[in-house]
Amino acid sequence: MDKKIIANWKMNPQTLEEAKELFSAEIAGALAHPNVNTVICPPFVFIEELAKIDNKHLGAQDIFWEERGAFTGEISIEMLKNFGVAHVLIGHSDRRYVVGESDEVINKKIKAAIRADVAPILLVGERSREDDKGKVLEQQLSVDLAGLSKEEISKVLIAYEPVWAISTSDNAEADTPKKTLEAVRMIKKIISEKFQLDYGPVLYGGSVNENNVVDFLKHEDVGGGVIGGASLRKEEFMHILKIVSEI
Ligand code: PEP
Repeated sequence: MDKKIIANWKMNPQTLEEAKELFSAEIAGALAHPNVNTVICPPFVFIEELAKIDNKHLGAQDIFWEERGAFTGEISIEMLKNFGVAHVLIGHSDRRYVVGESDEVINKKIKAAIRADVAPILLVGERSREDDKGKVLEQQLSVDLAGLSKEEISKVLIAYEPVWAISTSDNAEADTPKKTLEAVRMIKKIISEKFQLDYGPVLYGGSVNENNVVDFLKHEDVGGGVIGGASLRKEEFMHILKIVSEI
């Protein structure tokens, strides 16, 4: 199965000009390696202009769960679909712990994405190395996916992203491929027990770079990677796409 590489630019870069330059390079990489399923998630404000360069690889970093109405400051999935956005990150730890989004909110957003036929990328993972990973994953998955049919759950791209491993966290360090695989199997087991679904590969995110990407992604149960910091370094990101295309 083709591996997925999801670039999460977060609140970067600062100007449209820089965004266009980064996007153009990354799209060239995506087009050069069509066996990698590349999705680039820029800040909302750049999406309309970037869609003019390419609208086949666009993702969003968040959405609101209603289609329209009195929701000051929010953006709906329907608005984003106008520009070709076909994926959306939901439940990133920046949203969970900086903004304070609950699992109930995440569940509403996942349902909104599925209703709109946009693929949700659900990020789950423990906050600190000391946390009980199994317990955290079970709590997150049972609420985040509540009320979804098996068919709907199979449309959600689940990413294991331990918060302590994200490159901008204090003392961040990538997880080990072995422990990632253990977490991926925990996620598959939880979904099998709670939802009676044989869920496919799970993505990994957390300090993935050109040096470690193969070790994380080579196993068939790891379906791809979510890449933050390295997705802002265009040469490195393009190199990652090349490496992944050869796995
Ligand atoms: C992220 O925040 O989604 C992420 C994976 O970041 P980084 O690759 O920088 O650890």
